Amino acid sequence: MIRLENISKYYYSGNNVVLALRKIDIEFRKGEFIAITGKSGSGKSTLLNVLSGLDTYEDGKMFVNGVDVSHYTVKELEVYRKQYIGFVFQDYNIIDSYTVYQNIELALIIQGYDKSKRRARVLELIEQVGLSHVKNQKASKCSGGEKQRTVIARALAKDCSVIVCDEPTGNLDVESSKRILELLHNISSDKLVIVVTHNYEELKEFATRKLRLHDGDIIEDKIEKKNVKLEDTFKELTPYKTNLTDILKIAFINIKSMPKKAFFSGLIISLMLLSFVFAFGLNLKEKNTSLIDKTPYFENANQSRLIVTKRDDSVFTSEELDSFENIKYVRGVVNYDLVFDSTYINATYNNEYGLNEFFEYKILPSLSLNNFDLLRGRLPESKLEVVIGENDLYDIDDYISVSNEFIINKIEATVTDQFTYKIVGVIKQDLSIEEAKNELYLTIEALDEMRYSAFAENSQKLLVIDDKAMYAIVEDIRIDNSLEDFEVLGYDMMLFDMCRDFGYRKEVIDDFDAGLCPKEWFLPNHDFGINVFTRYESLNDPYDIVLETIALYPHIYGQGVYVNEYTYNQLFDDEIYQPSLIVYDMFEAKQVKEELEEMGYNVFYPTGVIDEDDALEIIIRNLQLSLTLGLTVLVVYFVGYFVMRNVVVSKRKDYLIYRSVGASKKTISNVLVIEMFYLTVISFIVVMSILVINENINSVIPRLLRYFSVYNYFVILLLINLLMLLMSKNFNAKIFNKSVISSLKAE
Ligand code: ADP
Ligand code: MG
Repeated sequence: MIRLENISKYYYSGNNVVLALRKIDIEFRKGEFIAITGKSGSGKSTLLNVLSGLDTYEDGKMFVNGVDVSHYTVKELEVYRKQYIGFVFQDYNIIDSYTVYQNIELALIIQGYDKSKRRARVLELIEQVGLSHVKNQKASKCSGGEKQRTVIARALAKDCSVIVCDEPTGNLDVESSKRILELLHNISSDKLVIVVTHNYEELKEFATRKLRLHDGDIIEDKIEKKNVKLEDTFKELTPYKTNLTDILKIAFINIKSMPKKAFFSGLIISLMLLSFVFAFGLNLKEKNTSLIDKTPYFENANQSRLIVTKRDDSVFTSEELDSFENIKYVRGVVNYDLVFDSTYINATYNNEYGLNEFFEYKILPSLSLNNFDLLRGRLPESKLEVVIGENDLYDIDDYISVSNEFIINKIEATVTDQFTYKIVGVIKQDLSIEEAKNELYLTIEALDEMRYSAFAENSQKLLVIDDKAMYAIVEDIRIDNSLEDFEVLGYDMMLFDMCRDFGYRKEVIDDFDAGLCPKEWFLPNHDFGINVFTRYESLNDPYDIVLETIALYPHIYGQGVYVNEYTYNQLFDDEIYQPSLIVYDMFEAKQVKEELEEMGYNVFYPTGVIDEDDALEIIIRNLQLSLTLGLTVLVVYFVGYFVMRNVVVSKRKDYLIYRSVGASKKTISNVLVIEMFYLTVISFIVVMSILVINENINSVIPRLLRYFSVYNYFVILLLINLLMLLMSKNFNAKIFNKSVISSLKAE
């Protein structure tokens, strides 16, 4: 029995006080079918809300089953509602995205209805309200009458003693209204059914009692049917704590029933996840990137370059070189890696001063670049194309000429080649590195073509006299194609040195101007050969060379000799003593280095040389990276939060319905958490799968997964889940910041 004693309720709006209920005294019993009528604003809804625990009141007392519930807190009232009350409102309050079946099932899940009997019970209720034909239809597609019947079935599912209906037929046509009221009448035999209506006529044939309100007063209380069996005690439902399986199930239904919202949310989470993976991956990548670009041994150390030699310093066979290509992460083999240790020069005319300026370029392999390293343009496809480090002088489609010598007035006899390339791409140059030179990224074919000029720069050239017994160091070997094969043109000082070293005519030699050691004396008495060996070669056999003429070349500084081009090329041994393997970065270099060492080679990784000054730099860099990472997480979280908030708020009504069906805050909060968890896990799988695919193609997206260990994946998954948990908790606070009734009213 519900008894109201002297209940008064006021509403305050501005300075006005509205008396919505005026000292109401009334009792309700099980078995009654009560119609509450009255004009609009007479207090019908207020009365209903008060007795069903949705609203508080200022004066009076209320008893339920003899218990005084007048001083119940909001929380206690929630329990009260769960124990006794089922609601049917004018605007259906069902979850539009659910099917009829799911709407009813939800009520059973939330009240903890025996799982094995659940399905049968749902079908039974659907049958009872006559909705079998639409049971699997989405509620949004149902007619008003069907929706209202679903709500009634849901109220019945709860098996509560009191069913309150506020204008349940307000939005329905006459035919549907009649069916709804019949239905309510049918179930009223062992319940208390209270129906608010502004049209008593339609209820007349069912009501056992009629109340009429006017200005918050009951002005009529009339028993319409006498021979009804009334009972004083209401059955009390034991509140049920929804278990994890149920929550998992509800969350699953939610995601399935709103594929678009789920997809959108998944997309947001995926983007958040991507940002984390990128921030994290770039962080790891940076840590795998060398800061050092200079070593004492190599002019152009580059993190893509691994230098290999044999333990016995012998020549590499072509099989060996081929086998390197098959090592994981090896992108290519540069046979003549001396080009990396040469600096090439580009001379430019300065318009302002009318002078030539010289810029030094270091030569690097274009194989070490990925598309995503490019600021613009593309990678070189032929040996005449080049990618440059960004600078003010050149850009895409310009031609750039470089040479391994300063060519001012190009001497026709110089051996130096000038190479001209078309710029097809630009990369960001790391100017943080001290003394960074401009960069030129060339194809392997172009590097191959440069080899002789690189050899010339990086080799010892000796003029050998009498089978290595004596030699003179030659600074430059230049080309003069008018010479015969293996003919050499020397210079006067060279002969002077040789004569002196061989002890000819000391007195003459000491007085240089007095006359040279005559070539007629010297040349016929000795064998001459030229011996050239690059930095990594051991001395090889000299060629027999006829030193034909000794002459003075006034325009050449230094000690140079001339040969023709054929002879020149013969001087350089094409055999490979030291190739460079091209990888992408330090991370790959480490793996390849290990493998090569296992294969029995000497490997030198120039950028792996770290001294103590750099160690501090590395600590500072790691600190910066961690800060950036932290900041990214923060920014991404807030952006994600504001986008996701709209999605969650758009589902607010659904969460409220859970509450009106009897779900506790905790349950709803958990449902939301689990929904997010599902989406997060799915997003994680999708994002990672895409990245794994990306890892195996050369796209513009950097490959970062390689840096991830299992532990890193775990950290990311944990991080995103923690953030989503935090987000869900915040959203829950948003959903619950108003009472059920005011929230429902607002909806
Ligand atoms: P009915 O359902 O019979 O139309 P209500 O119970 O909704 O009437 O309202 C009774 C009186 O209380 C009306 O005068 C109405 O304006 C007032 N009222 C109802 N709800 C509020 C509210 N939230 N704030 C202020 N006044 C309200
Ligand atoms: Mg009303």
